[in-house]
Amino acid sequence: MPNSPVPKNRDSLEQDQFLTVLSREDALARFEAALFPRLILSETRTLADALGHALAEDLVAPIDVPPFDRSNVDGFAVRSADLASAGEATPVRVTLNHEVIACGVAPLLPVLPGTATAIATGGPVPRGADAITMVEHTQPASHGEIEIRRAASPGQFVSYAGSDIARGEALLRAGTMIGSREIGMLAACGIADVAVARRPRVAVISTGDELIQPGLPLRPAAIYDTNGAIVAAAVGENGGDAVFFGAIADDERELEAVIGKALAGCDMLLLSGGTSKGTGDVSHRIVARLGRPGIIAHGVALKPGKPLCLAVCDGKPIVILPGFPTSAMFTFHDMIVPVLRRMAGLPPRSDAKVTAKIPVRIASELGRAEFVMVSLVEGLDGLIAYPSEKGSGAITSFAQADGFLRIDALADQMPAGTVADITLFTPHVQVPDLVIVGSHCTGLDLVVAPLARAGLSVRSIAVGSLGGLAAARRGECDFAPIHLFDENTETYNEPFMAAGLELVPGYRRMQGIVFRAEDERLKGLNAQDAVRAALADPACIMVNRNQGAGTRALIDRLLGTARPDGYWNQPRSHNAVAAAVAQNRADWGVTIAPVAHAAGLGFIPLAEEHYDFALVTARKQRPAVQAFLASLASEETRAALQRAGFRPA
Ligand code: AMP
Ligand code: MG
Repeated sequence: MPNSPVPKNRDSLEQDQFLTVLSREDALARFEAALFPRLILSETRTLADALGHALAEDLVAPIDVPPFDRSNVDGFAVRSADLASAGEATPVRVTLNHEVIACGVAPLLPVLPGTATAIATGGPVPRGADAITMVEHTQPASHGEIEIRRAASPGQFVSYAGSDIARGEALLRAGTMIGSREIGMLAACGIADVAVARRPRVAVISTGDELIQPGLPLRPAAIYDTNGAIVAAAVGENGGDAVFFGAIADDERELEAVIGKALAGCDMLLLSGGTSKGTGDVSHRIVARLGRPGIIAHGVALKPGKPLCLAVCDGKPIVILPGFPTSAMFTFHDMIVPVLRRMAGLPPRSDAKVTAKIPVRIASELGRAEFVMVSLVEGLDGLIAYPSEKGSGAITSFAQADGFLRIDALADQMPAGTVADITLFTPHVQVPDLVIVGSHCTGLDLVVAPLARAGLSVRSIAVGSLGGLAAARRGECDFAPIHLFDENTETYNEPFMAAGLELVPGYRRMQGIVFRAEDERLKGLNAQDAVRAALADPACIMVNRNQGAGTRALIDRLLGTARPDGYWNQPRSHNAVAAAVAQNRADWGVTIAPVAHAAGLGFIPLAEEHYDFALVTARKQRPAVQAFLASLASEETRAALQRAGFRPA
């Protein structure tokens, strides 16, 4: 192992590394120093099997491409000097040589002064000729001659030997990922086999008692294994071959056995979950026993991703990624991809960057470099980057983001209005055709469905009604979906309009009390009686909503001064209310009818809420906005909304 970074006094390190949080840069530097330089193993593959592999060595072109001077058009090989005086009114006559140079035919006769030879596109230029005249500029004449009505410059319509690829020139560099274009270049040079870096075999293991593989039914308190699939795919994207060993329970013996098997057949091991110091977290204890130098960093000043654990055991990198999928992906891309690509013989990934304005303040933890995922939209003057609102447990924040920004370890915030560097996840910015910022609703998905089918990209950023209105006033979106009740006028939405905005009527959502359909305490009652019954029974627990939600205003009116058990349980969405009741964590709450019905709950209607769209007038003529308005008005969308339990306005 070359220049190991681990201090001589290894034992003391192994004890305190659990207490020491390294900076991102230190952790990465130590990890790389323990792994490199190393021999990149290579193998020979046929062109057809080389796709997706990294070239192991520089390749030099063995021949010229094209191998000979070649005609680019159908016409006649000529001597340009013969045609100096040729013009529409002064055609020049030349004698045709007795051969036709088709593709693949080597010429036998020279083109002597005053002669020409018929030649096809791709035919080799014969001796003596220095240009090609297009057939369109000629016409047959008597006695085996043709008339040429245009002068020709030397080299006209000729591709010279080696003009595409010159013999001896660097054809492809080591580390180039072989794609169809590279295969084309190799084939043109007659190369049938290439030496490629052997793709590292990367074992992927998820850990956690709660994990179920996709495709199997969920049991209570279980979740689907997300990291297994996403890490395996990301390994493939970065030059490795993932070998997935499934999700293993938090059982030290079982996990150790699987890890042993994985390490025996793979070059690298990626675990996820079980990296904190919780009772069930056993992965790092096993990894600590595996080999030298062992754990290099456990705890990195990175957000998300602090519990990352990096180890090298007998030359093989072993990584325990944090359990939360977004944290796992961030640390994977930031800390593991550089190492994986190097092992795969690939050059470092080049990240595309743009600058964009941050519309809202982002708070950040002092002392940790923080990565914040953002969605890009087109503002009035340049790009706007919305930070993802979801926490590190949210998988969609990764899928929906365009890139991320970095907040320095020494900053405790990024103020609103900052122009920040955004690292893109894909090489090109793809600004969506339609941007919707505000309150999210499943009905909205039905309205935008026809747009997606028509090839328009729609981005919906859920920031709540008030956040959406603010974004609309700043001109950062096309629409803000809102459902805001004005106490004074007792009307929805209209009183909240401002200059530059207009209200587009959306649909109505029936809000009501949800309860488990079999709950005898509430079954068959009207709303008033149901609330009275619930409040009278101390064992009947409610689930509330967050301050500021339209539904919360309704609940406040229902409760008056009562503060029943469950009042402080204040989730932020309709679905969370339904889940709490369905799973017996609460007995009643207020949500909208479609959500209640989808969860199979009893429902007592209370009041209709108006869900409308604040349209930014300046953006009204954009095609995607027009398509949205057309969809909203269409019979198809109205019917779909109705089927889902909404009432179109
Ligand atoms: P852990 O580090 O094991 O304590 O996990 C932290 C969080 O990530 C917990 O909420 C886990 O349920 C979740 N988690 C761990 N592994 C996975 C996985 N493979 N897929 C989805 N979530 C996971
Ligand atoms: Mg776990």
